[in-house]
Amino acid sequence: MLMLSGSVAPAADIEHFHPKGKPPSKHTIEIIEKARATMAFSDTRDFEEQKKGFIAAPESMKIMADAGHVAWDIERYQFLAMGKDFDSIHPSLQRQAILNLNFGLYEVLKDKIYQVRGFDLANITFVRGTTGWIVFDPTTAAETARAALELVDKHLGKRPVVAVVYSHSHADHFGGVRGIVDETDVRAGKVQIIAPRDFMDHAVSENVYAGNAMNRRMFYQYGVLLPASPFGHVDQALAKNVAAGNLGLIAPTRIVEKPIEELTIDGVKMIFQNTPNTEAPSEMNTYIPEWRALWMAENVTAGIHNIYKLRGALIRDALAWSKYINRALYLYGREAEVMFASHHWPRWGNDRIQEVLRGQRDAYAHLNNQVLHLANQGVTINQIHNEYEVPESLQKQWFARGYHGSPENNSRGVINRFLGYFDGNPVNIIPLSPKDSAPLYVEMMGGAETILAKGKELHDQGKYRLAQEILNKLVQAEPDNRPAKDLLADVFEQLGYQQENTGLRNVFLAGAFELRSGIPTGAIPKTTGPDMVRAMSTELFLDFIGIRMDSKKAEGLEFSINLVTPDNDEKFAIELSNATFTNLEGFQVANPDLTITINRADLLQVMMGVKTLAAQIDDGTAKIEGNRDVLGQLAATLVDFELGFEILPGTKSQAQAMAEEKGPFKQDLRQIDP
Ligand SMILES: [Zn+2]
Repeated sequence: MLMLSGSVAPAADIEHFHPKGKPPSKHTIEIIEKARATMAFSDTRDFEEQKKGFIAAPESMKIMADAGHVAWDIERYQFLAMGKDFDSIHPSLQRQAILNLNFGLYEVLKDKIYQVRGFDLANITFVRGTTGWIVFDPTTAAETARAALELVDKHLGKRPVVAVVYSHSHADHFGGVRGIVDETDVRAGKVQIIAPRDFMDHAVSENVYAGNAMNRRMFYQYGVLLPASPFGHVDQALAKNVAAGNLGLIAPTRIVEKPIEELTIDGVKMIFQNTPNTEAPSEMNTYIPEWRALWMAENVTAGIHNIYKLRGALIRDALAWSKYINRALYLYGREAEVMFASHHWPRWGNDRIQEVLRGQRDAYAHLNNQVLHLANQGVTINQIHNEYEVPESLQKQWFARGYHGSPENNSRGVINRFLGYFDGNPVNIIPLSPKDSAPLYVEMMGGAETILAKGKELHDQGKYRLAQEILNKLVQAEPDNRPAKDLLADVFEQLGYQQENTGLRNVFLAGAFELRSGIPTGAIPKTTGPDMVRAMSTELFLDFIGIRMDSKKAEGLEFSINLVTPDNDEKFAIELSNATFTNLEGFQVANPDLTITINRADLLQVMMGVKTLAAQIDDGTAKIEGNRDVLGQLAATLVDFELGFEILPGTKSQAQAMAEEKGPFKQDLRQIDP
């Protein structure tokens, strides 16, 4: 089913997308060839499972966005389907990248369960109810979810969507809901939406406080602007990439509150297992006992997931994750005959299901236990990634390979969760900033020319991790040193080619790209949208104002505001003191400088950037009492975050256009300005 497109050049002719790009060195090829010779390539069960049940693919490998651009394009990854082994891609990663070319409609369980795969980062799953479809996880974008439903309609006959299950609080699992469901049908009770405990809080909050920093770091972990190429972006571990379309959210109508709950949905009995603080803070598995079908959400996929996400996120709990997999194994996994998930492909047969569940259970528990075992003997966060090793038996299992979360970044994550960033060495507790310490290193090492010569020597010897140490010092000290940046880029590039893990590969290759060409510009996948702002609590909105405040500008200011939103019966005590903006729900200040009374429905207009607070005051929608000037004072302290900040020194100059771009919440929140 891997269709080759006539428009793609033969693999041998694929050139590096960057004029300064280099092919893999002989040292890199040595590492790649060793992996090719020693890894368990004879185990091809994933390929059988990935192909099984294929029904049809759509005619086009592209899905257009309503806005006119391409929302999804799997065609650009077809170089992977040419039967060539690329020396610029770790063979294990290339294997996963080929598996992730699955594209189209698949049968999971005859007449009962179907999946559309390869339309977005996540799968969309269709479970046959008595009268219609129960959809699990409607992808990231309305456009890709709609296209998936059209494919289902075409091959399985038209049936209504009668229920949607959100498996967890990540946007690639709910963002496309509006492509398959009309909200008026949800309100009318025709469509049920089911979600795990605390779903809405986490769906909305995870990307707000540090949202701009996370979006910038997506350039690195996800390589969102790296060209698809054997020398660039090849895969995202869970699938090819994230679709760039309309992200929406319709609130659930039924929350699964208890640890285990049984519901019959459109005639299908389902048992929901809440698994909080695993892959997501709010997540649940589902078992359909009559069909012996086990849905493992994103808790068990074909690879090891992130404990620490390089984009940035709270550190996850590997031990809790392992325990919930174990519970699922003992509750359902010992009798299940098919196991399917929101990424990758299903597993059939109880032996295989138990093998995968046990292996994944052990992988997360081993990570937690062995890392802490080493930490308790003094191995620090700055050493653990060089010490921690996955057990050999798991190394041979493809589902236990670190495609999304590497053993390196996950082991550091575990230490970070329990002990934090400090390794105990006093030198690392309040170190100088890199740019302040680097000049002394450069001077002591004999200056730029000596470092460049030694850096080149290390590079030519394939000692890339040593080379990056000294070249980084030089680039930190001399951000405009072009030869230094180019050589460091060459070093990063080879390190990128050598990685099995998509995040590590993308981080090195994105770093190389930015050192060579500056910060790239272009459309990145959305992490928010009007629905997300609508679902944001007033408290979260006020918290984010506190984050947007430039406290230097608030120095010496002091005021208090009471905010009242009668339609949802909320009130807030807001204070600015000590250059700090705080809010407390449910309380009021005794003698406030200003009281604002505005319905939450109207405040939403301000949050969405549709109408300013000033305009609402002027036309009487918002009532104020007291000193209106404090709103002007507040507005003057607020900053709009920009996405184009530097990660590597000397990369900003070519990115001025980007600096003009809006940060993720700029449009939505700036109109607090009266
Ligand atoms: Zn996902």
